[in-house]
Amino acid sequence: MEIRRLFGTNGVRGVANVDLTPEFAIELGASIGTFFDGGKLLVARDGRTSSVMLLEATVSGLMQSGCDILDIGLAPTPALQYVTRLSDVSGAVMITASHNPPEYNGIKVIDRDGVELDREKEVEIEKIYSTKGWKPKDWKNIGIRSSKSGAIDEYREAMKCHVSEECIRAASLKVVVDPGNGVGALVTPYLLRELGCQVYTINANVDGHFPGRPPEPAIQHLSTLCAAMKAFGADLGVAHDGDADRAVFVDETGMAHWGDRSVALVEKYFLMENPGETVVTPVSSSVVVEEVAQAHGGKVVWTPVGSINVSRTMLKIGAKFGGEENGGIFYGPHIAVRDGAMAAALVADIMSKTRKSLSTLLNELPKHHSSKSRVACPNPLKDKVLERLRQETRKFKVETLDGVKIWFEDRSWILIRPSGTEPIFRLFAEAGTGEKVSALVEEYSKIVDKIVKSS
Ligand code: MG
Repeated sequence: MEIRRLFGTNGVRGVANVDLTPEFAIELGASIGTFFDGGKLLVARDGRTSSVMLLEATVSGLMQSGCDILDIGLAPTPALQYVTRLSDVSGAVMITASHNPPEYNGIKVIDRDGVELDREKEVEIEKIYSTKGWKPKDWKNIGIRSSKSGAIDEYREAMKCHVSEECIRAASLKVVVDPGNGVGALVTPYLLRELGCQVYTINANVDGHFPGRPPEPAIQHLSTLCAAMKAFGADLGVAHDGDADRAVFVDETGMAHWGDRSVALVEKYFLMENPGETVVTPVSSSVVVEEVAQAHGGKVVWTPVGSINVSRTMLKIGAKFGGEENGGIFYGPHIAVRDGAMAAALVADIMSKTRKSLSTLLNELPKHHSSKSRVACPNPLKDKVLERLRQETRKFKVETLDGVKIWFEDRSWILIRPSGTEPIFRLFAEAGTGEKVSALVEEYSKIVDKIVKSS
């Protein structure tokens, strides 16, 4: 019996009613429920058009295998993770496709510690699914379902303990929040207002059609937010992805910044307050993360790409801070998962304590130029393309912790790795000048495309 791989970098993902059908979700739910041996589970969903349908189907499968369900409703992923860690439950299931386009959805399984299941446990669920080994209970032992209210309030209150409300209130920052029609709208505007910011919102109606902008807070999608900064005369702009575990920041001049710049900013002030701590980050992050750590007496531990790897490494080695180039900030004192609302509160806290503008704070960090790109590649070809890429780049100094990361003499680098969620290769590069980094990305996009087309 062949075990079918279902989980990617971040849960089971696919296009709703094509890959992710209710029929599939019932069987996967039954497999997850059998894995948890009929325990008590929390569930939540994002605001996608298919999320209610997929939640109901997944919950049916979970209840069939005897799990009792506590539904917290619409919520950011980190809100579900936070309440999971604090509750007496076996784990949780989140229905979300995070930053993926509107037609996608996903089923993410969370362990009792609030972090996504590790790979070995995912394989156990895949085995149950592939062998149809789920165990329906008799009529007396079918799970029961209830809803749990107040989870989002609990989560929002908890974040306030990690920042200085007094300083933030005194600074009376003007903030524009752009949740991108995702569930971040339910938390971040309220959190920042309660901390004393003057908050404006755009795209703050939860809408699975994502009318305002695509769910990924990529810089090229944030033109409305950048324009709103000037219109409102705001100090800080915050954009989330669809499930609000990521935050991308815009400064007072209306300029949006790459995630690893804001990660490095929060890292710097974290290390100033917690000298000698370890910072966990994936190989796709900027060398600025390492330079800030060196300058402030911290250490860096690199991981393969994927938020689960950062979270699990943080818990394993007891690290309190992690960050990803896509705008994921993991603040261990709150919870060791990436959290967009927590990231926004931390940045507001730094601006308030230093009384400096965001552009000044970011300009004080070491400067590098980075660029990202993507090359289409059908999923079945990914392994073959990666192998050929490894052979063709042997002459360079190469790191293979995840994909291929090529280091050049002048400390510029390019990382080429297959996406775990989409049929593409992602390219990340960094160099001393904008021209150099564009040339690197262009050169390697062509190389990868050529290999894909001849594979
Ligand atoms: Mg996300």
